[in-house]
Amino acid sequence: MIILSGTPVRDRIKDEIIHSLPTLSRDPKLLIIQVGNNPESSVYVSQKMKFGQSVGISVEHMVCDENISEQDLLSRIHTSNTSQEVTGIIIQLPLPPHLNTRTILDAVDPAKDVDGLGITQIGLRTVGDQYAHVPATARGIMSLYDHYSISLEGKHVVVVGRSQLVGKPVASLCLQRNATVTVCHSHTVGLENITRTADILVIACGKPRLITASHVVPGQIVIDVGLHRTDSGLCGDVDYDEVARVVSAITPVPGGVGPLTVASLFQNVVDAVRFLK
Ligand code: NAP
Repeated sequence: MIILSGTPVRDRIKDEIIHSLPTLSRDPKLLIIQVGNNPESSVYVSQKMKFGQSVGISVEHMVCDENISEQDLLSRIHTSNTSQEVTGIIIQLPLPPHLNTRTILDAVDPAKDVDGLGITQIGLRTVGDQYAHVPATARGIMSLYDHYSISLEGKHVVVVGRSQLVGKPVASLCLQRNATVTVCHSHTVGLENITRTADILVIACGKPRLITASHVVPGQIVIDVGLHRTDSGLCGDVDYDEVARVVSAITPVPGGVGPLTVASLFQNVVDAVRFLK
């Protein structure tokens, strides 16, 4: 059984980013817009700021009042869209319920939308456009495949989860790599029967240890995107101890997909500068 560690992949991406910076036409700068001070969001923001510092990319953290009106937030986004200095913008999710997440995400200039969550980027990605920004976790999973020479050609990939953030972009990218893709979700009937037919399983369902030994068969590759803090420590959407005994390869939690997400976001930040006309 092979443990698919994300750490060497993350380190390689980090080196590539550092080496790419002198080749860019201008210095990248990422702006993170956070509304309120959700503690979990603040942890993610500080991870991004730390990574930016480690590769030499400037990151600005704009914190808006929890009660900011939609109009005020849109106005801040428009100012950032036209800034010469800011080359990438992300809206830290989740937003408070009084704000329309779709309206806010779509207000980010598509050229600076490095999370790839605005409607223009979703469209570009769906048609396989070369200038599309892929949400970071999905891009990280593709880098993991590349690093471990996992070919998707003709393989059956089962993705459990259909979020805009993970499941859908992963499914779309696997299709582009000529996999046959099945996407499962909370209404799927007979999940075990479907997951057992996969060559590669990507699990992003947000349910701690949902996938157990009964969902898998020998020879499969399992990518666990889930991340949960429990009383017994961090765990994924896969019951690692059970599943690792059956399959050929699996990502650990922590240390699998997790380290790749932030690094992949910064690849998007670099690409946003490259794509600038
Ligand atoms: P999400 O928005 O909550 O989406 C979860 C998806 O799983 C939904 O499509 C849902 O189906 C489906 N689902 C829920 N219960 C299911 C079940 N019993 N059987 C089959 N499908 C089920 O979550 P997300 O943002 O995609 O994130 C998924 C997981 O990845 C979470 O654990 C999150 O913490 C983790 N994550 C990790 C990273 C990282 O860097 N490691 C990054 C992002 C996310 P419906 O559509 O029918 O509701």
